[in-house]
Amino acid sequence: MHSQLYVISGPSGVGKSTIINQIIKKVKGLGYSISHTSRPPRGKEVDGVHYHFVERKKFRHMIDDGAFVEWATVYDDFYGTSYASLKDRMDQGLDMVMDLDILGAENVKKHFMDAILIYVLPPSLEELEKRLRGRATDDKIVIGERLKKVQTELKACVGYDYIVFNKDLQTVVHEVESIITSVRCLKSKQLPLAEKIFPISRI
Ligand code: ADP
Ligand code: 5GP
Repeated sequence: MHSQLYVISGPSGVGKSTIINQIIKKVKGLGYSISHTSRPPRGKEVDGVHYHFVERKKFRHMIDDGAFVEWATVYDDFYGTSYASLKDRMDQGLDMVMDLDILGAENVKKHFMDAILIYVLPPSLEELEKRLRGRATDDKIVIGERLKKVQTELKACVGYDYIVFNKDLQTVVHEVESIITSVRCLKSKQLPLAEKIFPISRI
């Protein structure tokens, strides 16, 4: 059975990393796709855990070498998913969760048509701004730039398979967990196993 990809997108500060962090701990057989980025680490971010932090020059080399499944320029920095980081984890039989911008999500869907796209919305614009400012790890200019893009970004939710609201954290984590459980129970995924146990096609 092949690995299932789950893409999580949403405006900056909506809570994607927070949700993913909890989901990874709660859901068995799920790995996190560690992206490469040219932006510097923020707060307590650790190289090789939250991102692979690389210089812009190195990122450009990797693009030229065809190292990325997808990459995009987001808020003036490069972000991308390398074939190597994805393949390593998929070879271990893990389903993968990816935190991607809108363009990245679109590109992943082109490569992997059965990828499940989940969009996280804030309960309100005021709350989103509060969270972005409250994170206190970005400077004011960065926050301003991210807020400017919010309206355009929110529109993208129409192209996703699922939409969840991150109002209460435990609720949204439960919802994402339920989406994953439901996808794992799809007939297309369970039938091969069922046929191994029961002679279904011969009944
Ligand atoms: P993103 O990865 O989408 O940019 P983060 O996960 O870094 O966002 O979250 C941004 C801020 O919002 C963090 O300070 C986080 O603790 C806070 N946060 C996340 N979810 C909630 C929630 N449901 N209620 C209140 N604050 C939240
Ligand atoms: P941040 O700087 O807040 O960690 O991420 C900024 C944006 O980049 C978010 O919208 C996040 O989803 C996106 N992002 C993170 N990693 C990748 C990636 O590998 N590819 C793409 N396309 N976007 C990414």
